[in-house]
Amino acid sequence: MPGSTPIHLQRCFHHSLREAVARCPACGRFYCRECINEHQGRLLCASCLRRLTQAVKPKRRWPALWGRVAAALIGLAVTWLFFYGLGALLIIIPSDSHEMQEHLFNTLER
Ligand SMILES: [Zn+2]
Ligand SMILES: [Zn+2]
Repeated sequence: MPGSTPIHLQRCFHHSLREAVARCPACGRFYCRECINEHQGRLLCASCLRRLTQAVKPKRRWPALWGRVAAALIGLAVTWLFFYGLGALLIIIPSDSHEMQEHLFNTLER
């Protein structure tokens, strides 16, 4: 019977070479110390913990979404400022390149 096997003879579900230290109560698989996590006083494997935390998550979805929107807006503002600054610099500095353009036009017209 596989269920009667002592825990020290069990191997981790993810690491076949490692000894299991605990059994996940949610899925019943054995895991090594690295694969098992403590969550609110209970021992859970990484995948069960992820499933559990994802099931709780939807409540916090809105703030996360707004955070992402804000980040996108900030990114846009920074990009806009960058190009605005670049445009302003192009207007201020190259007065001689503008003259060069006029010179070029004049030479082409001739
Ligand atoms: Zn599990
Ligand atoms: Zn493991």
